[in-house]
Amino acid sequence: MTARIIDGKARAAALRADVAGHVTHFAARIGRAPGLAVVLVGEDPASGVYVRSKGKATREAGMVSVERRLPADIDEWALLELVSELNADPAIDGILVQLPLPSQIDAQAVIGAIDPAKDVDGFHPVNAGRLATGLPALVPCTPLGCLMLLREAYDGKLAGLDAVVVGRSNIVGKPMAQLLLGDSCTVTIAHSRTRDVAARVRSADIVIAAVGIPHFIAGDWIKPGATVIDVGINRLPDGRLVGDVDYAAAVEVAGAITPVPGGVGPMTIACLLRNTLVAACRREGLPEPD
Ligand code: NDP
Repeated sequence: MTARIIDGKARAAALRADVAGHVTHFAARIGRAPGLAVVLVGEDPASGVYVRSKGKATREAGMVSVERRLPADIDEWALLELVSELNADPAIDGILVQLPLPSQIDAQAVIGAIDPAKDVDGFHPVNAGRLATGLPALVPCTPLGCLMLLREAYDGKLAGLDAVVVGRSNIVGKPMAQLLLGDSCTVTIAHSRTRDVAARVRSADIVIAAVGIPHFIAGDWIKPGATVIDVGINRLPDGRLVGDVDYAAAVEVAGAITPVPGGVGPMTIACLLRNTLVAACRREGLPEPD
């Protein structure tokens, strides 16, 4: 049996339209649109592409997009100054500092300087702690997008399912595990020191691949009928983009699977817009979108 393909592009388009609708109401009530500031340090081409597409999506949702570019050789204090300026700006509801940062800058110090109420990436330790303790938080966009796809795939019934998250980064793996735990899955987190990752994946109803190695998860690791969410974005020497899962093999075994591209990626930007709207609603004391 061939797996159902989870259409992240379509789901993301629906979420973006939903956010845009809420933005119209927000602007009518408050007299301004939510504002997202994206800070880019240096000239990294991939980061430049991400920042441009985030700005475009923000404007398309009817929100205000502010882009601040700083040279690669900037001092950490100058970046911290900019963050504190944006923290104090009443027109800015969300602040995102594009990672990676140049080596002279301590990324954790910069993340820690962002007002947690404006931390739409959800990387601030306060938001990570709130997520871990079940309090309302701003949740990292990529795992949030994965959770939305999973909830839809299972019609909201995730409780009791065995989930394996391969990868334990602060950006994807750890918050993904917290979200699945919050939905009452039984969660295993695998990483580079895990013994027999294949055996753990074989036992899982849900597999989240966030490793950064092309085709790391083989098709015969997948339990028949499992749902596979491939977070990986890897460029091969021939220019092709592939995920962390051997898609061609896994699609023959899984019950449902996300493609790369067109799966998790579009959900990440849509969730960034949603987080900005949520942050704006909380700041203005308005009810949050569902
Ligand atoms: P990191 O490099 O920060 O983390 C990778 C994780 O994979 C680490 O926890 C590492 O373990 C683990 N790992 C590495 N090798 C192995 C191995 N042999 N066996 C088991 N685990 C292993 O990556 P990110 O979490 O930031 O990103 C993961 C992937 O997702 C990348 O391809 C990235 O491009 C993509 N990505 C996609 C996004 C999207 O929007 N779709 C957004 C963000 C990321 P250890 O901790 O022990 O080193």
